[in-house]
Formats: sequence, structure tokens, C-alpha cells
Amino acid sequence: MAFPIEKAFAFDFIDRNAAEIALLNDNIFYFAELGMQEFETAGLMTELLEQACFTVHRGISGFPTGFCATWGSGSPVVAVHTEYDANPDNSQQSGVAQAVAIVEGAPGHCEGHNCNGAVMIAAALAAKAAMVKFGLQGTLKVFGAPAEEQLISRPYFVRDGWFDDVDVALTPHVGHQHGVGYGLIQSSIISAIFTFHGETAHAGTAPWKGRDALDAVILMDVGMAEYREHMMPTMQCQRVITHGGNQPNVIPKMASVWWYFRGSSAELAMQVYERAKKIAEGAALMTNTTFDVDLQSAVWPVRGNQTLAELVQAEYEGLGAPDWTAEEDALARALQAKAGVKVEGLSHSTLKVKGPAAQKTAGNDAGDVSWKVPMAKIYFPSNIPNISFHHWAAGVALATSIAHKGVVSGAKVLAASIIECFRNPQVVAEAKATFRAEIEDTAYFSMLPPDQKPPLELNRAMMERYRPLMRPHYLKDRPKFS
Ligand SMILES: [Zn+2]
Repeated sequence: MAFPIEKAFAFDFIDRNAAEIALLNDNIFYFAELGMQEFETAGLMTELLEQACFTVHRGISGFPTGFCATWGSGSPVVAVHTEYDANPDNSQQSGVAQAVAIVEGAPGHCEGHNCNGAVMIAAALAAKAAMVKFGLQGTLKVFGAPAEEQLISRPYFVRDGWFDDVDVALTPHVGHQHGVGYGLIQSSIISAIFTFHGETAHAGTAPWKGRDALDAVILMDVGMAEYREHMMPTMQCQRVITHGGNQPNVIPKMASVWWYFRGSSAELAMQVYERAKKIAEGAALMTNTTFDVDLQSAVWPVRGNQTLAELVQAEYEGLGAPDWTAEEDALARALQAKAGVKVEGLSHSTLKVKGPAAQKTAGNDAGDVSWKVPMAKIYFPSNIPNISFHHWAAGVALATSIAHKGVVSGAKVLAASIIECFRNPQVVAEAKATFRAEIEDTAYFSMLPPDQKPPLELNRAMMERYRPLMRPHYLKDRPKFS
């Protein structure tokens, strides 16, 4: 298939730099940094953007590991954004079809956000090179979005105006085949920590003198469990108890529980949250304690714009699925067998979009961007079909040739989509028009309180504990694009 000259140039850039893109992918894999602690990862990504003459703003919206890098001027303004955080407890050796940690107990990539970072940087550098070569007009903005796994950063970016001048946005995400969707793709989530406060007492000799904060957490849990029966089918909630006291002989004066409230719309997630606050009030009343709520983040459901989805689909249909070797397919089959899922190897097809997406109960902090401007979430094939994310098996392929081929292919799709917006401003105007029709009378508002600040301490202790053990596994070589 013959590609327009600007895209062929970008593809050539990507193919020429394929080894460097793989190296970037693998560097981030071994950094395996948790959300808000992605210092090595964001450092490397911004360094590469700076070397390519992007203007880099680090620390946007108060996120030390967030950034916005800009190239070009004027309109259209095309934004790309993605996450690059890892998960706890998922250190996994690359290319081994069984659960073997690199560092026991350490964080690890077990979804493929390392691949997201590599795709975004490679595509941005390739698209920028094509902009320079062919004099394409417009502004390319590259956003680094910390702590997606805790749904943190992009609602802050949108609240603080970083997307005010953006026309369209594209976000790459790892998957097992090239795909895209439109309509409501994911759910709204509100993340909030409820902390109850009481008074200590000797648990054995004078428990009547204490006011037990842990009791309040437990009673809130009971209340929420009863409430679950009356939720609408598109509402959900989950929690972990993050602090339950220190020793059994001391009545806990402080206890906390971290909740996620989910809904198919922002309004429904908000309803669950408001009800939870009432239940917490009841628990506090019953235990003679008080409580406060720290709203960590609140994200709108990710939606996809149809015009952009069609644009992206045309790009990946032109490229097709990567050619997998027999060895790559064998690794996929061995892993699928070991994980107890359907054994069918790697995907040789691309996703055909036949209508609006089926909405998932998962969320992503990119949701707010997708209600602010037309957006496409672009899936690329760097992981293995049927393996569920956040399981050790989902970490196996992420620094192998499977991930590398997927990242190169994903970077081409993203670069071509960016370039299409610059060489064909009409498609940008059309995306904006269909976006307005799609969201109808929904008025986007930030669910974050205006004074809410990013949680800088999030994951810090765990990362500080494991980083010294992980550092010896960092790769020695750093990517150099040319
Ligand atoms: Zn993800």
C-alpha cells in the first residue's frame, strides 16, 4: 500500500529507530516505577523530547513526574498523552512463561504502560520530524500523565487549563491487537480515602474509655455492603483498608479505608460517593468518632470520538498486524496454557469497529480529556491475547520482541494519525463537530475540588524500599534517536 509522503517519512524514521524504541520500552520496563514516583521514566522521556527540540514544561499541575512538551505553533493543536506507571507486587522476569520475579515483592509492569511511553515518544519524534521536513502547520503537545493506576493526573491537567487550547487528543494504550472505539468506552471512578478519628485506650483494662476508629471503618463497610443490593447495575464500589490500628492492646484512634466508586456516568459515580459519605456519617455516629474524606481523584468515563476512531482505524488497517515469528507465537501459547486461558497464540488481525463500544467497568484518568476535546484511545499489540492485566503473566511479554514489534507498529499508527490531523485540518474541524453532537447537552465540569492537590506521597515509601534492589537491573544503555 502506498502511503502519503509525510507518513512514509515518519514510518521510515520509526523503522530506522526501531532498536532505540525497543530500548526505551525496555528501560521503562526495568524502572517499573509506581504512580507519582516515575522519576527515572519521566526523566528519560523528557530528555528525549528535549533532544528533539521540544519545549518541555516539567512538573505541570504540581506533578513532579508529569510534563507537557510542545513543538510547532498555531493551529490545529494536537495533543498526545499517556501513562507510564507500574503496579505493586508484580515484578516479573521478561520472556519466562512462569511466575518468576526480578526482585521478589517489588513493583513491576504487568499491563504494558512501559510500552505506552515508548509509543508516545517514538510517534511524537517521528511526527515532529515529518512536520519539519514537509512544513506541516500546527502545534504538537506531548503530555506525560503520572499515576494512571490510581486515576490521578489528567483530571488535574484538565482542571488547570492544560487542554484549553487543544483541538483533538490521541492516547495510546497497550492491548493485544490494533484497535480503537467510539462512544462510552470506560466508566467513571471516584477515588476517596475515608479516615476516622477516635481516641486510644488500653484495650484490655479500659476499653470503655476508647473511641474505636477501626469500628467505624468496619461499620462503614457493613453499610456499604447493604447499599450494594440497591445500587443500579452500572454502579460498583471496591475498597481496601489502608490503616486499621497498630496493636491489639491499643484501641485504634485512627483508621482509614480507601474506596473506588464506579458508575457508567460521572453523575452515577457521584451518587455512589454521596451515599458513601452518608454511610460514613452513620458509622461515625455509631462509634462516636469523626471522619474526613480525601478525594484523591475523580474521573469521567473515557469516551471515543467517532471521526477520530475512523481516522485511526484507517491508519492501522493500512499497516495491518505485525508479523509474528514461530518463537513469539510459541511463547504466547506457553503463557496462555500456564495462565489457564484459551490457547490461541498471538493476534494476526486488527479490530474492525462495527458500532459504539461496549462500555467497560474499568476506568482511566484520560476520561476527563475525552469530555473536554474529541479523543481517540488507540490500542496497539504489545501484549498477549486472553491474559488479564495486573497478573504476573501480563508482565512476561513486555520487554520481548513481541512488545517491541507492537510498539513500533503502535508508534506508526499514532504518528500517522497525528500527521493526518496536520495535513488535513478539515478532519479536525469534523471531529470537533461530531464531538459536540456526541456529547449533546452534557456540560463537562471537574469533579475535583478546586483546591485539591496531587498526592505527592503516594507510593513513595514502597518505591524507596524497592528501588535500591531494582536499580542493579536497570539497563546500561539509553536510547539515542537519529
Ligand atoms: Zn492501563
